[in-house]
Amino acid sequence: MTGTKYADLHVHTFYSDSTFSPEEVVTCAKEKGLAAIAICDHDTVDGIDPCMALGLKNGVEIIPGIEMSVEKMDAEIHVLGYFIDWKQEWLRKILKEIQDSRVERIFIMIEKLRGMGVKIDAEEVFKIAVNKGSVGRLHVAKAMLISGAIKNLREAFAKYIGFAKPCYVPYTKLSPVETMELILKAGGVPVIAHPDLIGNDDYINEFVDHGLRGLEVYHTDHKPHVTKRYEAMAKEMGLLMTGGSDCHGMGKGRILMGTVRVPYELVEKLKEEAKKIKDGPKYRS
Ligand code: AMP
Ligand code: FE
Ligand code: FE
Ligand code: ZN
Repeated sequence: MTGTKYADLHVHTFYSDSTFSPEEVVTCAKEKGLAAIAICDHDTVDGIDPCMALGLKNGVEIIPGIEMSVEKMDAEIHVLGYFIDWKQEWLRKILKEIQDSRVERIFIMIEKLRGMGVKIDAEEVFKIAVNKGSVGRLHVAKAMLISGAIKNLREAFAKYIGFAKPCYVPYTKLSPVETMELILKAGGVPVIAHPDLIGNDDYINEFVDHGLRGLEVYHTDHKPHVTKRYEAMAKEMGLLMTGGSDCHGMGKGRILMGTVRVPYELVEKLKEEAKKIKDGPKYRS
């Protein structure tokens, strides 16, 4: 490949809620001409090793990452961790607890949906989520769609399972401080994902106080004026400006990979930042 190299820094696999296998993820990245992609599955690192093996063969650099959710009274905040030590046992143990709680909440969500006249089976949800460490609402929404209860995925979130909607059920999450500590302890660079989806920029400060390094300024769901706002905010706060498509395979109706990408120099910056974190006091190897 000649010219500028690009990276999509927010990609999911079917180990969380994308429909794409590691093979499909890496093939797609290659087709889109991406030099690097970051695997940022929800609460699981299981997709990283298979993607890395395939990335090596196909000339696509795989950046190990994760996406974790934090919950406030009135908002949901997603935090990305780049270059985490994904093999650490202590990290996997904490993630397993979160994953178990994700499984439990599916049954409660199904009960609530039943109360609203939507009948789906847990079996169906887990069938859709097969191979995945992190079952979630996108799988529930898909089951609702198949059952004919809704016309599109948007309806599932808008009427039933979106944050604070009648069938929304939380799973065990870490606090903002705990999330930041976990990512830093794992040697990762903490970045707030799609900040506009939080709905309240005031929440960002709390994360900055605890070592936030970047904002996902460039994201599929950010309109141009929103992107400008976060560019200004990142500059003012001295944060890195990252970006990614948040590709969920076909999970969001179309393949998003590569539609949002950043120059490879940003990957170098993230690497430098990860090194600083791993040389610092919070890191536990
Ligand atoms: P969970 O991890 O189970 O809380 O589900 C969160 C995931 O659901 C997000 O990462 C998205 O993939 C998906 N999601 C959340 N809100 C929406 C929405 N309004 N439309 C489509 N997908 C959504
Ligand atoms: Fe997702
Ligand atoms: Fe997210
Ligand atoms: Zn995501």
